[in-house]
Amino acid sequence: NGSEKKRLRIAIQKSGRLTDETLKLFKDSGIKISSNRDHLLAHAENLPIDILRVRDDDIPGLVMDHVVDWGIVGQNVLEETTMQRDLDGMYTGFNEVLKLNFGDCRLSVAVPMEEEWHGLSDLEGKKIATTYPHLLRRVMKNAGVNFRSVLLTGSVEVAPRAGLADAICDLVCTGATLQSNGLKEVETIYTSKAVLIGRDQPLFPEKQAIADMIIERFKGVMSAVE
Ligand code: ATP
Ligand code: ZN
Repeated sequence: NGSEKKRLRIAIQKSGRLTDETLKLFKDSGIKISSNRDHLLAHAENLPIDILRVRDDDIPGLVMDHVVDWGIVGQNVLEETTMQRDLDGMYTGFNEVLKLNFGDCRLSVAVPMEEEWHGLSDLEGKKIATTYPHLLRRVMKNAGVNFRSVLLTGSVEVAPRAGLADAICDLVCTGATLQSNGLKEVETIYTSKAVLIGRDQPLFPEKQAIADMIIERFKGVMSAVE
């Protein structure tokens, strides 16, 4: 039908650390979306834009599979998903449209507070719990350190205390979560922020015009808060 040619479809995180800032960026840019968070699909009231609310992990794939035009996601998830899809022989093309001014965090290695730390080689042969095995493996490979990854999609920070792993590699913002779990941050392996990505195919001209207008509005909103 015609709506695919005319309405810009954007995937955003349904509920999580990127959601409030994403919705604020839309609001400040004059995109009015219905506030019912239970619906997967929302429509902008005043612009030809549809919003798809999903888990952040699904956003890179939706863009790479050309199911949506744009997505807003953390670079950490984007990079990890790209490496996974490369391994799976799936398509990984996308465009970075705009870096956003929120979602700043870092992926760091942390070990129990009482442990001495000399460098990544201390982790030779050890078990490391993480949600980001591909990002971690790339860094460890470059450092020439062998390790075993323990994949956890949540509660990574309790793994050492629970005896599941010797160390963790997890997202850090303030460090408070690490500290309250008796861990110390010893090595940052990746720094991340939220980005707007787009499918790597030309849009229909009508959609491109809307996209260009929205990019200008996003830039304006971000430069106003700087
Ligand atoms: P979902 O249910 O959508 O899968 P999630 O639990 O995987 O959510 P969140 O914790 O909401 O994800 O984090 C989403 C993204 O927000 C992270 O991938 C990261 O890019 C960013 N982020 C910003 N600040 C932080 C922080 N302090 N801790 C963790 N992630 C952060
Ligand atoms: Zn997630």
